[in-house]
Amino acid sequence: MKAVTLLSGGLDSVTSMLLAQRDIKIILALTIDYGQRARFNEIQVSSKLCEMHAIKHMVVRLPFMLDIQSGLLEGSGMNIDSPWVPNRNGLFINLAAAYAESLGAEYVICGFNAEEAIDFPDNSAEYVGSLNQALEYSTLNHVKVISYVQDMNKLEIIKTALTLGIDLNSLWSCYEGGEHPCGKCPSCIRTKEALKKVGIK
Ligand SMILES: [Zn+2]
Repeated sequence: MKAVTLLSGGLDSVTSMLLAQRDIKIILALTIDYGQRARFNEIQVSSKLCEMHAIKHMVVRLPFMLDIQSGLLEGSGMNIDSPWVPNRNGLFINLAAAYAESLGAEYVICGFNAEEAIDFPDNSAEYVGSLNQALEYSTLNHVKVISYVQDMNKLEIIKTALTLGIDLNSLWSCYEGGEHPCGKCPSCIRTKEALKKVGIK
């Protein structure tokens, strides 16, 4: 079995990819540059991690995304507290599925999870189910989407990451770019709360 992974270099996608790697051969990891504030950090972290795990890494650039309004995107004029990007995950999964079919891979791995699904419906198990139905028709080899952290909250993902030996300091989950995580964006807040529960600063 082979898979293409969507990798942002954050806690969720990294943990999901390394869990998947125990069952499935990851033949390609894709990091998408869609003009997000954290793109340089995400690309750097993802590329390093793939090198460590001998996974082929590629950056796909979607410059047209800068026409889309979202607080996650640089220069959109919107606040980081409005991180929703219209149909982002739909675009990314379909893009990864196109690579998967053309490379003969049966799976797309992503880091969707229960905690983010509360705020973002495109992280939910229901959405993954409907994506898989659609991919039955749009890929000839019936590519399937799996998130290995689908039912987990942040705390459970952190605990799993630690058992996998992932260095949490090497990841980038912040919505902002820069030298250090901002500590204030919704992603930093979710991560900080979960880290506090496991006793990590
Ligand atoms: Zn942040």
